[in-house]
Amino acid sequence: VDDAEDSATSDDSPSDTSPSADTPRKANATLLMLARNSELEKAAQSVRELEEKFNFRFNYPWIFLNEVEFSDEFKANMTELASGQVTFGVIPSDHWYQPEWIDEERATEGRNRLVEADVIYGGSVSYRNMCRFNSGFFYRHPLLQQYKWYWRVEPDVHFYCYVDNDPFLYMEEHNKTYGFTISLYEFEATIPTLWQTVKNFTTEYPQFVAENNAMGFLSEDGGESYNLCHFWSNFEIADMDFWRGEAYTKFFEYLDATGGFYYERWGDAPVHSIAASLFLPKERVHFFDEIGYFHNPFTHCTINWDLWHNKGCTCSSWMSFDYQQYSCKRRWDLVL
Ligand code: GDP
Ligand code: MN
Repeated sequence: VDDAEDSATSDDSPSDTSPSADTPRKANATLLMLARNSELEKAAQSVRELEEKFNFRFNYPWIFLNEVEFSDEFKANMTELASGQVTFGVIPSDHWYQPEWIDEERATEGRNRLVEADVIYGGSVSYRNMCRFNSGFFYRHPLLQQYKWYWRVEPDVHFYCYVDNDPFLYMEEHNKTYGFTISLYEFEATIPTLWQTVKNFTTEYPQFVAENNAMGFLSEDGGESYNLCHFWSNFEIADMDFWRGEAYTKFFEYLDATGGFYYERWGDAPVHSIAASLFLPKERVHFFDEIGYFHNPFTHCTINWDLWHNKGCTCSSWMSFDYQQYSCKRRWDLVL
């Protein structure tokens, strides 16, 4: 797969990121989308909106990843819509597919259990591949090596407000590592043994747990049990050096070795969220109130009127998920 990459550069893409009088400073960052060829229309919608609301001014590069080669049509459409450099990468197969050492009988039982419990994607192997890839592999892809920051964008999302301050530079200048817009409760049936595995890990590696961590976001009883709160990872603006660092690398390997991504249906959202909440001081996690965002079925829209007005938001604040019943934003407010 080394040569299965393809790059297209539009004429106006900035070729250097060094500061000068007329080019504003840029972060070492990329926009990142994992997508299937069948999602062309939905991917185009997300790219079009993020370009219109943000990237037309900043021209950050886009990277698209897929476990199979993107179609010429997909490539042509995304290249047309993007203002920055666009690159299409194929995911190495050992970063995507179910590993040989997984006990297929046990994995099948796990899937059947979740299908019977009517859990979303309960029977899907490809969904599990995706969750494991997003948990432990995307930041190792050759195309991402040169970058520190990424903004994860999914097909079929909406952006409702103008993003005129560079969020990557905000993260950099305020010493942030992980940024989110929506937080909520996970389906317990997808992660029955995840918390016990996390507790085993932190017992074995107490040195990775940050002193001023956000355990209060994850647990109501000081870490005994998990309250299922997590940051919704379909939106992330974060520092890949955190995922590449020792704590998270060991953490992912430890989780992966249990087979839980396949025997259960561990999502990258709880995995990322638990790591960010425990291995970072809580101030390093940032809530992007000013970024209006929709991923089915939830919206984040600031309830701060000045912000809503200043950023030209087109969403309705009363629809914002922040303080709805299944949101974890209240917990987050308590922790900070
Ligand atoms: P949901 O948000 O949990 O409902 O899951 P999605 O279907 O939106 O998938 C999450 C992300 O992974 C999206 O960016 C999808 O395009 C991507 N994705 C999911 N499954 C696959 C797959 O089998 N192949 C590829 N290439 N991308 C996938
Ligand atoms: Mn999605």
